[in-house]
Amino acid sequence: MQFFSNRKTLAGLLAALLASLPVTAAAQDQEVEYAATALSTTVTMIKGRGGNIAVSSGEDGVFIIDDQLKPLTDQLLGSIRKVSDRPIRFVINTHYHADHVGGNETIGGSGAVIIAHDNIRERMSTDQFNHFWKETTPAWPKKSLPVVTFNDQVTLHLNGEAVKVTHVPRGHTDGDSIVHFPTSNVIHMGDIFFNGLYPYIDLDGGGTIQGMIAAVELGISLADDETQVIPGHGPMSDLQGLKEYHEFLTRARDNVQALIDQGMSLDQVVAAKPTAEWDDILGKVWITPEQLVIFIFNSLTGVDHFTPLEPQETTTE
Ligand SMILES: [Zn+2]
Repeated sequence: MQFFSNRKTLAGLLAALLASLPVTAAAQDQEVEYAATALSTTVTMIKGRGGNIAVSSGEDGVFIIDDQLKPLTDQLLGSIRKVSDRPIRFVINTHYHADHVGGNETIGGSGAVIIAHDNIRERMSTDQFNHFWKETTPAWPKKSLPVVTFNDQVTLHLNGEAVKVTHVPRGHTDGDSIVHFPTSNVIHMGDIFFNGLYPYIDLDGGGTIQGMIAAVELGISLADDETQVIPGHGPMSDLQGLKEYHEFLTRARDNVQALIDQGMSLDQVVAAKPTAEWDDILGKVWITPEQLVIFIFNSLTGVDHFTPLEPQETTTE
């Protein structure tokens, strides 16, 4: 059985997963091994600690998708310089989590423009309490915040292609984007896609299973048989891997919904093990089967802790 990856042996898959887990403070002071994979003449994926990074480098300079963890920024910059030693012009953040925006302060401070969805700046600007992990991520300093924000889509015309950054509502969070490099034929899915492990759905941050499924469907619609798909965490994948992930998400959702329809409580749904067929592989890396069922159950019943952000100001003529 493939379980989404398609590019690796199981042993290689597990090693890659362990290296790229969403990390907390304990792991942050280590020497990190970075692996760079050229995906086209301009796009390179870098795996280190934290979310997977895409680097575009070419005639117009360098821009990157996500910048991992703050304490590791110097190490990350060293790995990016091996791809190109030209200055980084832009950073796109795929969402607000600390393992994707940690380098903003240093890289933005060196002159790069940080670009992100409106909700990323909103959430980074204030303390974020998370009921699931029972911890608060404090507001980031002003220098870490995105300076260009968008509400649905932004396009970067650089290095020979029109790179589209598209907001996907309420998936892993309420500020996720997926990034499409049409000429390189590469898609960066951010944390919409956890390849080879159960996904985290940040209910406090506005995530839902329904939005995650819809976002995967957008990714599938942009891909063809040659597309290289970068997940937020885990090894490289492709259209087939995305389709298998979609199948898993939709069936897991349907299994949980069927038990809700029978009138079961959350505890009863967890005990019924509606994700049993995937638990042995996907449920033993990070997010557990019980945690995944909680995410799905709460998404479907509306029992999350989501605090809607203030509606964005819209101008009417
Ligand atoms: Zn995340």
